[in-house]
Amino acid sequence: MCNSIKTISKVKSGELAICCECYMYHLEFNNIYLELNQREFEQFRSYILDIEMDYWEHKYADAKVKRKIPIPSMQQNLVLMFKREEIKELQTLFTKTADVFTTLLNTKDIDYALILN
Ligand SMILES: [Zn+2]
Repeated sequence: MCNSIKTISKVKSGELAICCECYMYHLEFNNIYLELNQREFEQFRSYILDIEMDYWEHKYADAKVKRKIPIPSMQQNLVLMFKREEIKELQTLFTKTADVFTTLLNTKDIDYALILN
């Protein structure tokens, strides 16, 4: 378990954090907890940002499920389902991060310089 975790983004239902040692992303959202490496994070992020909510809501309009927008997981038989408001929150979570991430890298560079001295 990582113990240098820094929160880089936060919304009502969850938060996104990064480990300053192994650079794994930690996503906590409602009852979901995901750990992602840099590549997985980029893939997940672009999936969330490009998701066509209208398409899925129309496709599952008659379905009894309350949550109609699917996000596939790495386990083939497990699909995570979301409501529009939840997807919007996730999109916020993933778009607010850029500045904080830059700050994090700068801080790390400074720490490194201090150790050399
Ligand atoms: Zn770590």
